[in-house]
Amino acid sequence: MLQAGRSGGIRVQHYDIVIVGGGHAGANLAIGLRQRKFAGSIAIVGEEPELPYERPPLSKEYLAGEKPFERMLIRPAAFWQEREVAMLTGHCVLAVDAEAHTVTTAAGLAIGYGELVWAAGGHARRLSCMGGDLAGVHSVRSRADVDRLMAELPTTGRVAVIGGGYIGLEAAAVLTKFGKTVTLFETQDRVLARVAGRALSHFYQEEHRAHGVELRFDVMVDTIVGTNGRVTGVRLADGEISPCDMVIVGIGIVPAVGPLLAAGAEGGNGVAVDEYCRTSLPHVHAIGDCALHANPFADNLPIRLESVQNANDQATIVAKALTGAPEPYAAVPWFWSNQYDLKLQTVGLSAGHDAEVVRGDPASRSFSILYLKEGHVVALDCVNSTRDYVQGRALVIARSRVAADRLADTAIPLKDMAQ
Ligand code: FAD
Repeated sequence: MLQAGRSGGIRVQHYDIVIVGGGHAGANLAIGLRQRKFAGSIAIVGEEPELPYERPPLSKEYLAGEKPFERMLIRPAAFWQEREVAMLTGHCVLAVDAEAHTVTTAAGLAIGYGELVWAAGGHARRLSCMGGDLAGVHSVRSRADVDRLMAELPTTGRVAVIGGGYIGLEAAAVLTKFGKTVTLFETQDRVLARVAGRALSHFYQEEHRAHGVELRFDVMVDTIVGTNGRVTGVRLADGEISPCDMVIVGIGIVPAVGPLLAAGAEGGNGVAVDEYCRTSLPHVHAIGDCALHANPFADNLPIRLESVQNANDQATIVAKALTGAPEPYAAVPWFWSNQYDLKLQTVGLSAGHDAEVVRGDPASRSFSILYLKEGHVVALDCVNSTRDYVQGRALVIARSRVAADRLADTAIPLKDMAQ
């Protein structure tokens, strides 16, 4: 039950379940709890001013001006009121006291909990080099980030994108559509190096080049240079300066777990959780981008997954646990990315694969890539090929062993290869 009182001059509220972070994970946990008829009090404490919203459109339709923010809300305001989920937006939790069962916000609000669920995601990793804080240097993590960036677009001609991961590539695709001159800088020798095999990287590189994006590989950005506090270029380690009016930084996130680790939770690059999303602290779970978990699709190695799938599925795991129906987390990872008119859908985790099979002709712009490890299918990337994505999931889930020439044969549907 919600109770309010005062303790030593500090305002204290109490909720049965306090969720820190109002992103995909936090919002879906509250939704799941109410769906499962949880009748106790629930509060979501989130540092952003908005109600929970979908983050993926930020680098896609929202940046492109094709989707208004209101359509990105995970649920409308009335939903949270009707379900009696207290929305404490604009509150950043700075401290957790796991013995006293309280969290304290930057504004000095102490909030007591019966169960705490840490769903704080992560913050965009910032450039550590000189000039990383100049005006015109942007991240793409929150609505505020993207609104700031969009406000500068009318006066921007040249954009430097730092990082060849999904967010950098999606932003590059939108900005070229706007007629901007885009150069992408990547320290590795290809795009998507962390998440995909060479064939997919090669395909996307050719697509971006065909749309006018200049790709620079094996380069280190040394300094962001500027005049009067505003970016004018990117200096590389070899001294070359590439002029630009805007820098977009897409170099990953730093998990937002400081207060929880300071309270004694185990972790490092994320907060460590078990298969029920329990942290090492009693009555504290963690879910979503910040949760470091042993994933069955990564040989049970501890990883953090930054995806809507993981956020939603871990939210379901905790909703079940907190309503007396615990179930271990074993969901197959999936993800998507939209660039130009290309819809990429991926299932499984390709890290550690030892072979790739291309199914279909990349030149047709509709094809798939199957990733194998010791002969077993471990992941699937599908470009404009939803049928393969739908039918191939079973192969990944079962880690099916299928001969490469059969996988490559588009005359045989993937569903006919499941064992
Ligand atoms: P978040 O959504 O980050 O939510 C965490 C919330 O907690 C944030 O609002 C944060 O401000 C808040 N918070 C942090 N610290 C505190 C604190 N101390 N106190 C209070 N509040 C705090 N995934 C896909 O699957 N497909 C995609 O196409 C895709 N595209 C993406 C595009 C972009 C631009 C971005 C940024 C992400 C994309 N993702 C995509 C990833 C996906 O959005 C994340 O995996 C997902 O948002 C994770 O949900 P979460 O709830 O764990 O974290």
